[in-house]
Amino acid sequence: MLEPLKVLNPATEEVVATVPAADAADVDRAVTRARTAQDAWATTTPADRARLLRRFADTVDQHLEELARLEVREAGHLIGNARWEAGNVRDLLLYAAGGAERLNGAQIPAPGGWNVTFHEPLGVVGVIAPWNFPMPIAAWGFAPALAAGNAVVLKPAETTPLTALRLAELALEAGLPEGIFQVLPGHGQVAGRALVEHEGVAKIVFTGSSRTGRDVMERCAAQMKRVTLELGGKSPNVVFADADLEAAADPFAFLDNSGQDCCARTRILVQESVYEEYTARLTEAVRAVVVGDPLDEKTQMGPLISRQQLDRVRDFVPDGADAIRGSAPAGPGFWFPPTVLTGERPDSRAAVEEIFGPVAVLLPFTDEQDAVRLANATPYGLSGSIWTRDLGRALRVSGAVEAGNLSVNSHSSVRYWTPFGGYKQSGLGRELGPDALTAFTETKNVFISTESTEA
Ligand code: NAD
Repeated sequence: MLEPLKVLNPATEEVVATVPAADAADVDRAVTRARTAQDAWATTTPADRARLLRRFADTVDQHLEELARLEVREAGHLIGNARWEAGNVRDLLLYAAGGAERLNGAQIPAPGGWNVTFHEPLGVVGVIAPWNFPMPIAAWGFAPALAAGNAVVLKPAETTPLTALRLAELALEAGLPEGIFQVLPGHGQVAGRALVEHEGVAKIVFTGSSRTGRDVMERCAAQMKRVTLELGGKSPNVVFADADLEAAADPFAFLDNSGQDCCARTRILVQESVYEEYTARLTEAVRAVVVGDPLDEKTQMGPLISRQQLDRVRDFVPDGADAIRGSAPAGPGFWFPPTVLTGERPDSRAAVEEIFGPVAVLLPFTDEQDAVRLANATPYGLSGSIWTRDLGRALRVSGAVEAGNLSVNSHSSVRYWTPFGGYKQSGLGRELGPDALTAFTETKNVFISTESTEA
């Protein structure tokens, strides 16, 4: 008997729920059901599939407040952010439904015939989600996968299974066929691994740490299984002297979701000539951040997800380290104050490794070349921001920084209608955007001869 999953409220440490953990036999049963359901789903008309996905979106919308409050309880997210996250699931479903209606192949002429290309669904897709944005990241996988005619088995993270389970109920309520979208809470090493290794699963969409991502990719390789990996980040916030320093000193570039954001701009690189002025602005802003009850609309930052994550973050910030510090409640709950480390070397552990908490490092640079060198000096390449009023420089630096999602004079990264993914150790493949559905298909080309067969 596997240890059940104990879901704690990160703001209070109260037990919210205890959820049975799936084992390999449960995964096998779910995949078998999914395969059966997928045969019929793949042959529904685009309009029928789109209609059901839109109904699913409407059902999510009708339960938006309930889903948001569940997200607050299991993940400690701010209520306003949690509402946005549930709304994001709805919007992803609507966007994917539109895609289902336009998933057409091509006709390509050739000497002596025609080529016809088809986008065929893969079959059963396994989605393995992390705890930091449980609802949206799961939907990045399941919405386009379903729209392209696949069945989905979703394994949420150990700490955040509740919103995923509720979404599965809402899918059935909306009329999605039984077995087409299943949620299996479980331990990564057991249920996650069983899903990755199951021969009936055609593709894995994994979002999580780079370490686990590597393991998933190796196991997929054994079966040549399709895989998309969205992994860690250590993104730069590059501030040139000519930038709007007030906007560039917004601490929510690294504090959103208590810093548990793969796109968090946690390496703040500031041009020497404005380093002092920038530091003063950032200090004021960090000290003003309101940390506390996630259900209070005035709160700006909530707790970390778990004690384990709190211990990990603490380990990067030794007592006495040079830092700008905000404040946080004492507990119960997994609280850590907004923190900017100011005495780090560019190659120190805190400056290079993903911390995944409300902690950034502040580093000076001399010129554009130095900024690009520092921006690229990590194994990651997910995101980043460039702050300057010089358009030419913004474009040059955007071209030189090795990352999949950059922003100029902004720290926003993710839109469901634009592609998202990482360079280097931040991942493999892209999600979202106009190509999201074709990532869940095989492209087949059929050549049809027009040669006369008459004698
Ligand atoms: P994690 O790698 O520990 O777990 C992610 C998921 O994988 C969980 O559901 C877990 O149960 C499962 N898992 C664990 N071991 C497994 C195994 N051997 N086989 C199959 N599945 C397994 O990551 P986490 O701590 O939950 O999430 C935080 C990480 O996710 C951070 O590194 C963050 O940067 C990353 N992340 C990346 C993106 C992105 O889009 N690039 C988005 C969000 C989070």
